[in-house]
Amino acid sequence: MNEQLHNAWDREHLWHPYTSTIDPLPTYLVDHAEGVEIILADGTRLIDGMSSWWCVCHGYNNPRLNDAAKRQLDSMSHVMFGGLTHRPAIELGKALLAMAPPNMHNVFFADSGSVAIEVAMKMAVQAAIAKSGDHNKTNFVTIRRGYHGDTWNAMSVCDPVTGMHGAFGSALPVRYFVPSPSSPFDGEWNPDDILPLKGTIEQHHAELAALILEPIVQGAGGMWFYHPEYLRQARELCDRYGLYLIFDEIATGFWRTGRRFAWEHAGVMPDIMAVGKGLTGGYMTLSAVMTTKDVADTISRGEAGVMMHGPTFMANPLACAVAVESLKILAENDMAARVAHIESVIKDTIAPAKDFDNVADVRVLGTIGVIEMKEPVDVGEFQKRCVERGVWIRPFGRNVYVMPPYVISDEQLRYLIGQMIELVRP
Ligand SMILES: *Cc1c(COP(=O)(O)O)cnc(C)c1O
Repeated sequence: MNEQLHNAWDREHLWHPYTSTIDPLPTYLVDHAEGVEIILADGTRLIDGMSSWWCVCHGYNNPRLNDAAKRQLDSMSHVMFGGLTHRPAIELGKALLAMAPPNMHNVFFADSGSVAIEVAMKMAVQAAIAKSGDHNKTNFVTIRRGYHGDTWNAMSVCDPVTGMHGAFGSALPVRYFVPSPSSPFDGEWNPDDILPLKGTIEQHHAELAALILEPIVQGAGGMWFYHPEYLRQARELCDRYGLYLIFDEIATGFWRTGRRFAWEHAGVMPDIMAVGKGLTGGYMTLSAVMTTKDVADTISRGEAGVMMHGPTFMANPLACAVAVESLKILAENDMAARVAHIESVIKDTIAPAKDFDNVADVRVLGTIGVIEMKEPVDVGEFQKRCVERGVWIRPFGRNVYVMPPYVISDEQLRYLIGQMIELVRP
C-alpha cells in the first residue's frame, strides 16, 4: 500500500487523540525514529521537539534501552504480579525510591499516567477514611489550569474549561477548584496567591481527602510555571487541616524541569507522588505511585485492609526492565548540568520571540521552552509548516512549546528553536 492509501485508511478508521472522525487533522506516516529524529515514510526527517508527548528522554532507538528490552523479552515479557514478583520490578522499585523524596516508602506500579492518578486518588481516599473514620472525607481540591489525565477521576481534577468538563455533564465527580497561582516561578511571590486555597481548605477540610497538584509546572493545562512558595504554604495548610498532598510528577519527573523531580525546587515533600511518562524513557507505558509508610500502613489498617487496585499488567517486566535501564542512564550522567545547558541554549535562542506583537509571554524552565501566543494556534496548519521545515512541534491552545529529548545536540536545538520562532513570527 502506498503512503496515501495508508493515510486514507487511517483517516477513515483510526481514532487519534482528541480527534473528530468527520474532520480529522492530518496525520503523517512515520517509518522509523532514531536519536532525536522522526523519519517519515517519504524520507522527510523531523527534529522532535515534543519527546513524543514528553516521554522520550534518551532518544529513539536507543541501543541501551533496546538491549534491555531484548534481554527481558528472552526471559519473560510478563507474569502476573499477584503472588509473584520479579527482579525488574524489585530493581525498579529500589531505583525509584533512591531518587524519590526521602519520605517515600512504598511503590505501586500502574499502567499509565492517568491510571497512576486514579490509584493516587484512591490511596488518598482509603487513607483519609481509615484515619478519620469519616466516610465523607473523600473529596479533592486542586488548582485551575491543571492536567492530570483522561480517566474519570483524573479528568475531574483537570481544569474545568480546558478539560472540557461541560462535555461530560453530571457524570464527573465535582471537585473544589481554586485559581492557579499567579506568581511566576522566577518572579516575586504574591502572598495573596495562597488565599483562595486557604479559604477553601478552612471551609471544607472535613470533606477533603487531599490536595492534588502538578508541582511547579502545570503542563497540558496551560504550560505555566509557578512560584515554589505556593507549594510550601500548601504543604502547611494540608498538615494543619489533615489533608494528604498528592504531587503529579508525571510530566515533571526525571529531570524535565532541571531537577530529578519538581518538588525539589520547593523542598516540599508530598504524601503521595505519581510518576509516568519519562519512566521507561518513552519506550512503553508504565507509571508508579509512591507513598509514605504512614499512608500505606493507614490504608492497610483500614476497612478494606488492602490497597484496592490491581491491574492485569501491573509491574509488567518488559516495561520495568526498560525503566531500570533508563534510570541507570540518568544516574550515570550529570543530568543537572545537561539540563542546565539545554535550558541556557533554549533561553538564548527563544528570546527574539519576546518582541513579537502576537506573543503574550515567553518562558523557559529546564528543557521546556514555551511561547504563549495572544491567539489560539491552528494546529493543522502549524504542523504542516513544521513538517516543511523539518521539525515536529504540536501546539495546543495558545501555547507553542518544545520539550526535546535530553540527547539533542546544540545544533539540532538551535535549528528547532529557530524554526519555532519563524513559525510564530507575525
Ligand atoms: C500526561 C499526564 C498525565 C496522564 O498520563 P497518561 O500516561 O497520558 O495517562 C497525568 N498527569 C500529567 C501531569 C501529565 O502530563
